[in-house]
Amino acid sequence: MSSLFPGLGGGSRERAAVGFDGRALTYGGLADAAGAVARRIRPGDRVAVWATPELETVVAVVGVLLAGAAAVPLNPKSGEKELAHIVSDSAPSLVLAAPGDQLPSSLGDLERVDVDVAARADFPHAHPELPDDAPALVVYTSGTTGPPKGAVLPRRALTSTLDALADAWQWTEADVLVHGLPLFHVHGLVLGVLGPLRRGGSVRHLGRFSTQGVARALADGATMLFGVPTMYHRIAETLPGDPELAKALGGARLLVSGSAALPVHDHERIAAATGRRVIERYGMTETLMNTSVRADGEARAGSVGVPLPGVELRLVEEDGSEIGARDGETVGEIQVRGPNLFTEYLNRPDATAAAFTADGWFRTGDMAVREPDGYVRIVGRKATDLIKSGGYKIGAGEIENALLEHPGVREAAVTGEPDADLGERIVAWIVPADPESPPGVAELADHVARRLAPHKRPRVVRLLDVLPRNDMGKIMKRALTPADTDTGT
Ligand code: ATP
Ligand code: MG
Repeated sequence: MSSLFPGLGGGSRERAAVGFDGRALTYGGLADAAGAVARRIRPGDRVAVWATPELETVVAVVGVLLAGAAAVPLNPKSGEKELAHIVSDSAPSLVLAAPGDQLPSSLGDLERVDVDVAARADFPHAHPELPDDAPALVVYTSGTTGPPKGAVLPRRALTSTLDALADAWQWTEADVLVHGLPLFHVHGLVLGVLGPLRRGGSVRHLGRFSTQGVARALADGATMLFGVPTMYHRIAETLPGDPELAKALGGARLLVSGSAALPVHDHERIAAATGRRVIERYGMTETLMNTSVRADGEARAGSVGVPLPGVELRLVEEDGSEIGARDGETVGEIQVRGPNLFTEYLNRPDATAAAFTADGWFRTGDMAVREPDGYVRIVGRKATDLIKSGGYKIGAGEIENALLEHPGVREAAVTGEPDADLGERIVAWIVPADPESPPGVAELADHVARRLAPHKRPRVVRLLDVLPRNDMGKIMKRALTPADTDTGT
């Protein structure tokens, strides 16, 4: 049994813990307010948290964890149907919310308790001895490939992943994190909030991400930035006209990206303008973090680094045999094992069983190659990013990266569609830089053929105003269907 937050309730009550745009709590204030929440909660319960990007969400989650219960963060932007599903699936005993929040009727007659960030209760009020496998969080997956599933994360998964990241990122109590991510997924909640609190450092949440907010916080002493690729894309686009931002990013200790692949083009533009390379880490709701570039390692565009301490990682062929080669070429599915893993999908024994091999490896559904020095390069998801065309297996990611280097392309997503000759043909979905004169299919096909190989060129180009993305900025490829487009075949 390990305490999740050694710094809470210790001797450092005056240290800054968490701040949201002017509203902030020290470790002492957080312990008091979270202690008051914990008093309302029975150990072992599941408790929903209305996870707005506000101070109350942090107090609520920490309170639930102190009580020895499991928090179920709800995305306030979810549709009514999705919320109703999550509430009936997770059966929480109550929902914690900020005093002014309007809760939708889809939460049914779930009891509501308001969080008071100024409350005081002796700490640790309720802090039962808990086994490491007691559930700490039930987090619903992003729903990128299908309906969200509730991943049950034990306390052990949180502590092991955060301690592995501390090792990889040399993360200490001196670090101040700038944060602009939502708090209902593991990236923003586990890494972005519980991470700094476990280390004894602090986090400043921007409420809403903005490049100015990032620049201000970094200029003001923050040391690390965690973001998703859409944020780094905004940064890359803003940098040429914003020397303050370039200077602030150049002075940061660590810029970290995750939740989806960071386009090579954005990585390179940021490196050129700031002198700093963004490091990528790879994780999932179900596994928390699996790999990362290390703070003292070499950040490489398009690579997610090496397995974290304690994480076993292997690549396997379709028949389940392990790929020994580290040749940067042989593609296999990533499977992982380790203390960072979830225990089950809530109420889904079938899905849980299907997700694991007989010997306990979790099938991530992500495809990758390994470099000779052990670095992992993800080529995409098995379900949506592997295109079988003309006898080749082609990863969508490298084609997207090549397309993004074309000056006429602002955003790109690549999919496969059935084709009588090729099996599947490569389709490029493009948001053009200039909608008045989008690049044509011949030009983009040439561009890709020259950079990669002729068989990787798109056969069809479809133009869009925006790519369909979810709340984490992930491209929803299942929403890319031929009906809703102009065709440029
Ligand atoms: P669902 O499982 O509901 O379809 P999801 O898989 O998008 O949604 P998450 O658990 O939030 O839900 O995301 C995990 C996935 O995100 C990984 O399986 C991987 O495909 C992708 N991912 C995360 N980090 C990276 C990264 N650094 N590079 C590439 N892909 C990444
Ligand atoms: Mg998934």
